[in-house]
Amino acid sequence: MKTLSAIAAELEGYDPQALRADRVSEFLARLVEPVLEQESVGIFQALGRVLAADVISPISVPPHDNSAMDGYAFDGRQLQAASSDATALVLQVVGTALAGKAWQGKVEPGQCLKIMTGAVLPPNLDTVVPQEFVTVRPALVEGNLDSITMAHGLLQAGDNRRRLGEDLMQGQPALQQGALLTPAALGLLASLGIERVAVRRRLRVAYFSTGDEILSLGEAPREGAVYDSNRYTVFGLLTRLGCEVIDLGVVRDDPAQLEAAFRGAALQADAIITSGGVSVGEADYTKLMMKKLGDVAFWKIAMRPGRPMAVGRIGQAILFGLPGNPVAVMVTFLAFVRPALLQMMGSSQTAAPLLRARSLSPLRKKPGRTEYQRGIVSQTSAGGLQVSAIGNQGSGVLSSMVQANGLIVLHHSQSHVDAGDEVDVMMFEGAL
Ligand code: AMP
Ligand code: MG
Repeated sequence: MKTLSAIAAELEGYDPQALRADRVSEFLARLVEPVLEQESVGIFQALGRVLAADVISPISVPPHDNSAMDGYAFDGRQLQAASSDATALVLQVVGTALAGKAWQGKVEPGQCLKIMTGAVLPPNLDTVVPQEFVTVRPALVEGNLDSITMAHGLLQAGDNRRRLGEDLMQGQPALQQGALLTPAALGLLASLGIERVAVRRRLRVAYFSTGDEILSLGEAPREGAVYDSNRYTVFGLLTRLGCEVIDLGVVRDDPAQLEAAFRGAALQADAIITSGGVSVGEADYTKLMMKKLGDVAFWKIAMRPGRPMAVGRIGQAILFGLPGNPVAVMVTFLAFVRPALLQMMGSSQTAAPLLRARSLSPLRKKPGRTEYQRGIVSQTSAGGLQVSAIGNQGSGVLSSMVQANGLIVLHHSQSHVDAGDEVDVMMFEGAL
């Protein structure tokens, strides 16, 4: 476990008074460590969890060569003979292979087997002609076989055959530890006959809001006070990540209450998220208490919104002291806290990829800080992405966060954007 000053010493250009957003990410990546405990869960409980060990495929999928179409299976070498003199290929139908039942019997040259999608291909047959490609000639005499004719040049040997193990080969890793279990991963596990998997235990995250002006739901409105929204956005963000949440309410600006909240949180949780009380002008006890109880750094990040942030450890728990403004809370969470929590969860995938979209309007931007503007991303008629920034970018304007479906990320050195320029966007889908 490294101290904050040891991490700071490793980072080039570490300046807590004007910290670049990319340095914040690097710092956090060095600070946090994945939880090690694991548990075994059934497939229905595994969605969104992080795989704790590689899953080695116990079988091959598919377990045998099979047909990809409803049609007729035959030995594809006969195509070559037919194509050399450009004649149609005529084959006699010796039987029917259904999915789920292996067909027993021999198919000789000049013969084929009627076959359904998914049915096992007998060992000497490698090609399937779809039924739409053939003309069937019924047997004229009772006891004779039907025959099919297919035109020349429609097929190559091996067409419409699914190979044994083409999805997964027995003994190969099907999923790697650190994978976030998606719906596709659940299906893959099931296709291997696997009912339970080892996952990392859930991350426990405690959170509270600070500030004497913050009202809890149910309290009567009073002059100068605002309802707490941060606890609810943080709750939602954490729940979407699959964390176990510990809601510690609103904590008054009172040393005893703050101390009890921090100590209680540190005993129960892997991470503590607070909002409010970390900006420079704060005349409250939040910062004092963080300093007293833990190893905590106070940053001014070169970003907008969300400049102040406190980070460190209180006991064994990682502290994320977020600013108070509701939009700043969400932006700092998405930019920094979410990737750090994913790393703590043991996930090998920590940052969502940024997409490129054409800005529909010019965007004012000062070089020397990272800006996250709320935007509405949509598809252009040509198929690319476009984004329009939302009018009111105030850091307290939560309604703009509701309207937006992503953040335009204007990087540190970037300056003004002209209408029509491409910008990076971070989509909310999957995170919010
Ligand atoms: P602070 O960082 O504590 O100075 O707070 C900055 C602004 O965010 C102030 O206007 C606060 O009233 C507001 N704020 C702080 N915490 C919350 C909260 N939990 N819910 C809504 N607004 C908040
Ligand atoms: Mg405050």
